[in-house]
Amino acid sequence: MPVTTDRSTGTREFDALIIGAGFSGLYQLHCLRDRLGLSAQVLETADGVGGTWYWNRYPGARCDSESHSYAYYFSKEILEEWEWSERYPEQPEIMRYLNYVADKLDLKRDIRFNTRVASARYDEDANRWRIATETGEQYAATYLITAVGCLSSANIPDIPGLDSFAGDCYHTGQWPHQGVDFTGKRVGQIGTGSTGIQAAPVIAAAARHLTVFQRTPNYSVPAHNGPLSDDFKRYMREHHDEIREVMHSTPNGHPFRIADRNVADVAPEERLAIYEKAWEIGGLRFRAAFRDLLLDKAANDTAAEFLKNKIRSVVEDPETAEKLANIDHPYAAKRPPIDTHYFETFNRNNVSLVDVRAAPIERITPSGIVTADGEYPLDVIVFATGFDAMTGPLLGIDIEGRDGMTLKDAWSAGPKTYLGLAVAGFPNMFTVTGPGSPSVLCNMPVAIEQHVEWITDCIAHMRANGINRIEADPEAMEKWVAHVNDAANATLLPSVEHSWYLGANVPGKPRVFMPYAGGMTRYRAVCDDIAAKGYEGFRKSGNHQDTGRNGSTVGDFAPAAAIDTPGV
Ligand code: FAD
Ligand code: NAP
Repeated sequence: MPVTTDRSTGTREFDALIIGAGFSGLYQLHCLRDRLGLSAQVLETADGVGGTWYWNRYPGARCDSESHSYAYYFSKEILEEWEWSERYPEQPEIMRYLNYVADKLDLKRDIRFNTRVASARYDEDANRWRIATETGEQYAATYLITAVGCLSSANIPDIPGLDSFAGDCYHTGQWPHQGVDFTGKRVGQIGTGSTGIQAAPVIAAAARHLTVFQRTPNYSVPAHNGPLSDDFKRYMREHHDEIREVMHSTPNGHPFRIADRNVADVAPEERLAIYEKAWEIGGLRFRAAFRDLLLDKAANDTAAEFLKNKIRSVVEDPETAEKLANIDHPYAAKRPPIDTHYFETFNRNNVSLVDVRAAPIERITPSGIVTADGEYPLDVIVFATGFDAMTGPLLGIDIEGRDGMTLKDAWSAGPKTYLGLAVAGFPNMFTVTGPGSPSVLCNMPVAIEQHVEWITDCIAHMRANGINRIEADPEAMEKWVAHVNDAANATLLPSVEHSWYLGANVPGKPRVFMPYAGGMTRYRAVCDDIAAKGYEGFRKSGNHQDTGRNGSTVGDFAPAAAIDTPGV
């Protein structure tokens, strides 16, 4: 319910507006409405909750985080009531989960669906954010929280002739709710990231023929998905606190610890045995075999070689195997996919692989895709081509802060934030999982719960202390940006030129390493420390009795050398 509706303008007035009804927006609404007692409204483009899981309904879509960790941990009751069925839940199961949470907490009554936010403008005189939707509805609030997701802005490459294609085209992140029937169809799939690697085996099983257009070959580790045993379900029910403790004390927020050993600590035969065991366990746990895989190229080379040999041992046709194994980046320096029979799919006689790095896609015609090697006739094109990650959804809204400064201008050379949570010049605006936060390098629900709780505590602090306005100090923000760069540069992550972490997948996007690679544990400690010091590095104004220091008094966050194993 709005606090009031301005009769002359029709503006609906709230304490807080939240954009997005995925994992982040749902929890943010619960915190602000039910814990702080604020009037709060979520605005959401989709006609239901779920965010990522509402949009990504492509064949094979499922979680890469293990089910017992891909969940909210703030409510013991929710943890006890919900039971996951598989090691990695499929998209419909996650949608059921998020709907269950939204219904249990009675959130939907304060979510306005089918409502895309087009613009948000800070009105300095009124100290209010004024929001307009695509259809012209007006909202206003003191606090604006963007929970728009890191991976919610589909990236469809601008390939000449795309509009002329006579068949059907789909982006995996905008998949039709009624599904797609591939029976008897010649399907072309562009993209071999986490999505393409999940989708290809399932599409191949249904289609007449699948052609995979691969630009960058990729590693993948078998997920070894399967139903959860009764024993494991009991373990999950009885050990929430221990599981949470592990997730909160590892850099990447997953429910397992990264081994405390370097590759060089073990002899080659033992190393191989460790990799074999990690391969058998499967999933993202492979990455936990050694501490230094993302810190030391020589260490990483050993994992890379092991995984390339696995590809060669699975794929029967040597030429196809070499195209798949011709990987030019360190393992896990791009988001590492996990799969169910991805490489085996290339042993099917209805699947072929096209190397579009060797022979680039030139154009799309009414009947198919043309590369430098000729035309591939198709009935359907699937774009598994990823997202305009992290900045795309935020810059998709026309956001204007203090003194007419737009977010587009503020980020023209790449995004800058303080902690990934706030931007100088944009008072009382909070960005859940913004650039500069660990977010995508972490098991995301862990990061999301931390962000949302920190924002909630900050707003509670403001209200308790008569602070009307809070804004990141430009100098503190620059220090954080420098720290984000240092953290990335201490790892192998920025060494990959064709990584979406750097924005390289979107033509014209500034090349800036966007997520915080210093690990979730360190990040949480920094955020807690800043809050404990009265929100150090923020400018505050109002009638406050605040004891915290205004402005850019923040110290150094951590020397680059101290960055331990990063997320992923
Ligand atoms: P989202 O779920 O993206 O929700 C954002 C919402 O904001 C969307 O519903 C969108 O419609 C809405 N929105 C955006 N802009 C506007 C606007 N202008 N107006 C109104 N509404 C707007 N993470 C993991 O940790 N583990 C995984 O295994 C994992 N699997 C993934 C699989 C896929 C296919 C993808 C794409 C991502 C995956 N992720 C995974 C990352 C995933 O995005 C997060 O785990 C999490 O779901 C993000 O939640 P969110 O609420 O922050 O954002
Ligand atoms: P992605 O990792 O960005 O992969 C996109 C793929 O499309 C890449 O292979 C890319 O090649 C290719 N591509 C893009 N434009 C192209 C063009 N013009 N021509 C040819 N190829 C092109 O996207 P994604 O696979 O959707 O995954 C994005 C992120 O979402 C993941 O990294 C992960 O964080 C998340 N995700 C998670 C899961 C899960 O956990 N279950 C599943 C799916 C996605 P290049 O590499 O050469 O750019």
